[in-house]
Amino acid sequence: MTTPHDVREQILATVRRFVQREVMPVAGELEHRNEYPHALVGRLRELGLFGATIPEAYGGLGLDCTTYAMVVEELCRGWMSLSGVLNTHLLLAYLLYTHGTEEQRRRYLPAMARGEHRGALCLTEPEAGSDVQSLRTTAVRDGDWYVLNGSKTFITNARHGTLYAIAAKTDLHAEPPYRGISMFVGEKGAGTRVGRDIDKLGYKGIDTCELTFEDYRLPSTNLIGGTEGRGFSQVMSALEVGRINIAARAVGVAAAAFTHAIDYARHRRTFGKPIAEHQAIQLKLADMATKIEAARLLTYQAAERKDRGARCDLEAGMAKLFASETCLEVAIEAMRVLGGYGYTTAFPIERYYRDAPLLIIGEGTNEIQRLVIARQLLQRCAS
Ligand SMILES: Cc1cc2nc3c(=O)[nH]c(=O)nc-3n(C[C@H](O)[C@H](O)[C@H](O)COP(=O)(O)OP(=O)(O)OC[C@H]3O[C@@H](n4cnc5c(N)ncnc54)[C@H](O)[C@@H]3O)c2cc1C
Repeated sequence: MTTPHDVREQILATVRRFVQREVMPVAGELEHRNEYPHALVGRLRELGLFGATIPEAYGGLGLDCTTYAMVVEELCRGWMSLSGVLNTHLLLAYLLYTHGTEEQRRRYLPAMARGEHRGALCLTEPEAGSDVQSLRTTAVRDGDWYVLNGSKTFITNARHGTLYAIAAKTDLHAEPPYRGISMFVGEKGAGTRVGRDIDKLGYKGIDTCELTFEDYRLPSTNLIGGTEGRGFSQVMSALEVGRINIAARAVGVAAAAFTHAIDYARHRRTFGKPIAEHQAIQLKLADMATKIEAARLLTYQAAERKDRGARCDLEAGMAKLFASETCLEVAIEAMRVLGGYGYTTAFPIERYYRDAPLLIIGEGTNEIQRLVIARQLLQRCAS
């Protein structure tokens, strides 16, 4: 009999093989050309990863959050941008299978699992990033329709995606303002306009764009869950998965940087011996490996809580905070180990060094994570 553990191991072995054979050889070149990885995205589709966490009843693999975090880690050992193609797609799927109506699930999830519909999460606006409540996109009811107007920015998968999860205000006067936010699911088409691609330090090859809604008409059946004013709590629960995803990405990128560093240290010789025999380098390797392991355990702990259905905003916040700061630190430490060569494009360390800072910003900046963590700790102390 195949156990869930066997399924996890089989999937991880498949993803590992894919990353080693197909991603690692081409990632550097695609990244430097800032080229969208169409062929690799096709392979993600063939591997069923667009349906990674979508329940089997809707055609997905039905992976739990812990296995998904492990998959993300493996992908990011090869190229972080690939996990970005999946992340907001699966957050939209999460919104649908957790908060959507049965009709919405049936309408969209099977096509999403097959990778025919590819999703994006449209939350951030030019004047509303951390402060989600201040978003200005409006959704005005017009009979059996809603009419959406507003501008989003930094939307990953906006250009290559076909299906959007959109946060909009259905009540401009709600107090507190978050009670006026609703989430919609809508297909790209008339009324949606993808603007410029944002030029980035790293996280290349994947589309991050401005996106405008101009008299964009959606049937009222596209309001996620069918009740207005629930969008904020819906999206916050999705962002728990998003933060676990970011933590897992950080572990994957940091592990890749460490692997290069230790391998290089064993072969590079100075003063008559491999640099791995200099204590200063050994201290770095020990600190890097210990922090990566701690980040991994925090990530799995948060994911396991999510799998058990327990509240995990504290744990997901801690994992995201610690893992992303660790990743940033490990990337620069790996660069130090490689000396001048780490600064060149001959090694992928410079890519990790450019990719890592996104992780301290995306899915809620680390300043916001600290606020979430402190608020939770204070609440627990008071109860
Ligand atoms: C490459 C990339 C991809 C992205 N993809 C998506 C996507 O797919 N969908 C999407 O919706 N968004 C996406 N984002 C947006 C991202 O989630 C936001 O950039 C992030 O939430 C921060 O918002 P902001 O940039 O407006 O910064 P701001 O909110 O303006 O923050 C600026 C600074 O102030 C700090 N700050 C803000 N408020 C507080 C406070 N109360 N206390 C202490 N410090 C505070 C922040 O921590 C930060 O240091 C993406 C961003 C990037 C860079």
